[in-house]
Amino acid sequence: MATAGIIFDIKKFAIHDGPGIRTTVFLKGCPLDCWWCHNPEGREGQPENFCVRTRRGGSGGNWAEKEELFGREVSVAEIMTEIIKDIVFYDQSGGGVTFSGGEPLMQPEFLKAALIECQESGIRTAVDTSGYGPADIFDEIYDLVDLFLYDLKNMDDHQHIKYTGVSNEQILDNLKMLAVRGNKINLRLPMIPGITDTHENLEAILEFIEPLPGIRDVSLLPYNRLAEDKLERFSLNSRLGRISSGTGNDLDAVTRRFANRGYRVKVGG
Ligand code: SF4
Repeated sequence: MATAGIIFDIKKFAIHDGPGIRTTVFLKGCPLDCWWCHNPEGREGQPENFCVRTRRGGSGGNWAEKEELFGREVSVAEIMTEIIKDIVFYDQSGGGVTFSGGEPLMQPEFLKAALIECQESGIRTAVDTSGYGPADIFDEIYDLVDLFLYDLKNMDDHQHIKYTGVSNEQILDNLKMLAVRGNKINLRLPMIPGITDTHENLEAILEFIEPLPGIRDVSLLPYNRLAEDKLERFSLNSRLGRISSGTGNDLDAVTRRFANRGYRVKVGG
């Protein structure tokens, strides 16, 4: 039987999920439970219904509610048909395909099969990962991936468990393992005000990554309040409270701090 996976979206012409113009495939399932997650429809591994609310007549109008199913089973051949349509744009822009989620490592067979197809078609690949997954899966896909978009959230394990539901131990071990193997990592730091953007956390991140030769690129991902609006539409409560976008982030200072230590820093994906 052809390898099949469960996805909840395919985004065409994406420009924040790696270099150039990309197609981003969102795989369902994530073992983390981040307080700031902006893809609640990606967390469960199986297709699921959400009660989605929209404002009638724009802001200020009454809410209208509708049950919507998120997630569908697709074969690798089906997603390749979509991916290949835009090959000319990838070639012109230095782009390619990004497998995101959820956590794409949760569907290792599907991910690997899709990466092999991309490689055979000459399409560059990126995997957007929380880093939380068995080391042997990273090992199996390593040669099929051009770039890992690797999230690093909190260096303090108690804080990590509190805000994501899991320990950071495996995430740090996998990051070390990948960074020693080569230079294929774009480290992505979500800047959650008061949680991940603190002086202590950023200093601990710098201390951890400085000895790792494979990390030169760092992206700072400012907190986006639109995540809260999305939760509201999905009838879910925000656990962060109303934080304004960018509150607490002095992104220029953080950028300088990483740049001064020799990193290429970008704000945004
Ligand atoms: S790792 Fe990403 S998809 Fe998973 S819960 Fe955290 S923010 Fe959401």
